[in-house]
Amino acid sequence: MTTSLSNSVRYRAVRERNRKFDGVFYFAKTTGTYCRPSCPAPHPLQAEYTFFDTASEAVSCGYQTCGRCCLDTSKGDLSLVILDSIDAGVINDRGVNGFADTLHMSERQLRRIIRRVTGSSPLHFNQEKRIDAAKQLITCTKLPITDIAFSVGFSSIRQFNIVFKDVFNITPREMRKNNSVHILEKNSDDPTSSIKSSI
Ligand SMILES: [Zn+2]
Repeated sequence: MTTSLSNSVRYRAVRERNRKFDGVFYFAKTTGTYCRPSCPAPHPLQAEYTFFDTASEAVSCGYQTCGRCCLDTSKGDLSLVILDSIDAGVINDRGVNGFADTLHMSERQLRRIIRRVTGSSPLHFNQEKRIDAAKQLITCTKLPITDIAFSVGFSSIRQFNIVFKDVFNITPREMRKNNSVHILEKNSDDPTSSIKSSI
């Protein structure tokens, strides 16, 4: 979608500070911040821009939110950036404090926004995301459970097992076993299901 925009169209949108492109793409500057096309701050030379389709891509490349254009917008949009970034694993990589720094806000402000949007604390919400992702991998792939635990951001398999059981009332291994029985049962009825379940 947005990837079909040529860079010259993007350069022009930025030069004109065209609001129509806000939310369509973001541009990052060598100063280390990223902006919406309509940002009122002075623009650097064109050659110094990097373009991103989403704010979370810019955040995951280490750019910080511009205080002039990205934080002045509606809180709803900022919440989306925050949720996108959590999905992309920013809390696993930087912790809540590091994430707040990236957004130029205090950890307390960030905690308040996440609590308002999700009803959970940042760590709790992040953990739910990680455990959901792990459940997907356990039931839809044959990846070893240890690999899954590390890939969703746990540093200890023991901790992963405890949290998983706490959420689903079943261990990862039991869930994998139940699921493979389920797949076998499906296979006996439907010859194509083994293909589907291995995707
Ligand atoms: Zn800006």
